Parts: sequence; structure tokens; C-alpha cells
Amino acid sequence: MRFSPLLSKVFFTFSSLARLGTPHQARLPQLSQLRPLPLRSMSGIPFLGALFGSSSSNNSSKMSYPDKRSDDEWRAVLNKEQFRILREKGTEPPGSGKFDKHYPEEGVYTCAACHAPLYKAKQKFKSGCGWPAYFDSIPGAVTRHEDKAFGMTRTEIVCSNCGGHLGHVFKGEGFPTPTDERHCVNSVSLSFAPDDKAGEAKDAKESKA
Ligand SMILES: [Zn+2]
Repeated sequence: MRFSPLLSKVFFTFSSLARLGTPHQARLPQLSQLRPLPLRSMSGIPFLGALFGSSSSNNSSKMSYPDKRSDDEWRAVLNKEQFRILREKGTEPPGSGKFDKHYPEEGVYTCAACHAPLYKAKQKFKSGCGWPAYFDSIPGAVTRHEDKAFGMTRTEIVCSNCGGHLGHVFKGEGFPTPTDERHCVNSVSLSFAPDDKAGEAKDAKESKA
């Protein structure tokens, strides 16, 4: 049995204190906090379980969108992880996405499936939640649905052009943004176009066919 230097030190400190008969024994449970929480036990927490599971509520996928590709057609253009998240409403692990800590000056985040422009770089903010966060979208680019999966009512957001799952939107969390909304989006659902001015100049019209 091997201990890390830190754990050994904690054990040593504890056993020294115990020998002295001090009342510090109450500190023992803190040892468990030094170990990373196994992922399996996290799924026992309803909120975290929901983040890692896929939604059973598919009301949004029954809706009609301009881009009506079939699952087979999507499989041909999306990789496995993109398909799981965009078409099966999965969620990427927090902190894992390539756009989580991506803060460009300008450019546009597009749908990774159909490339419709969704969010301007200027709409992104640091939420610290582990997923890309936007306080607003390009007008009309994102459609909201009530998501009642996992015994909770949340607001799912999908791409208005193809219905691809993006994430959820949360309101009233107190972030200092113009909307006090947080579009919590999977990086996997997004692409980034640094030169795309769609969000700046073409807000009003959806010119991409
Ligand atoms: Zn799309």
C-alpha cells in the first residue's frame, strides 16, 4: 500500500495529534476530501447525473427544422461524440471542451453540424461553470424547449436551423451581463469562424441557406 507524500504527512500529523490526546480527531474525515470523487458516485447527485446522462425528453427532436437530415445523414458528417451530443442530447464533461476557455476578440461560433451562425464572440463570458457560456445568441439562431428530463424542468437550447442540441439556458444567476442569462453550450456542438462577421453585420437576416 502506497501513500502520496501529502497523505503520508496528513497521517503522520494525525497520528501525532492522536498520541497527544488532543481533540483534533474530528479532522479525520477531511482525509476523504483529498481523494478525487469517483465519477460513478457523482452520477448519484441528481444535478450532476443530468449533466452526464442523455436526455430522455425528445420533444425538440420531433419539431421541424429547415435542415431535415436523417440520423444516417448526420452520422456521415458528424463524428461519434458530435452525434451523441448534437443528435442524442448528450453532454460533454465539464472543463473538457475546446471552447471553454476560448475568448477571442471577434468572430462567430457556428453550429458544428450545419454551420449556422449562433453566437458572437462578444456574447461569450467567463462563467466558471466548465462549459462555454454566452449571455445572448444571434437573434433567432437558437430555439428554446422545455426539458423535463431527470425530474427537473430546464430550458434546452437547440440550433434553429437543424435542431442540433446545444445545451441549456439558465436565468437569474446574478452574472453581471446585459441579460442575466447563461447559455451553457457544449464545445462539441460548436465551430468557430474567426473571420465571420455574420454576427456583426447580418444580425437581422438569416442569409446563410
Ligand atoms: Zn445546426
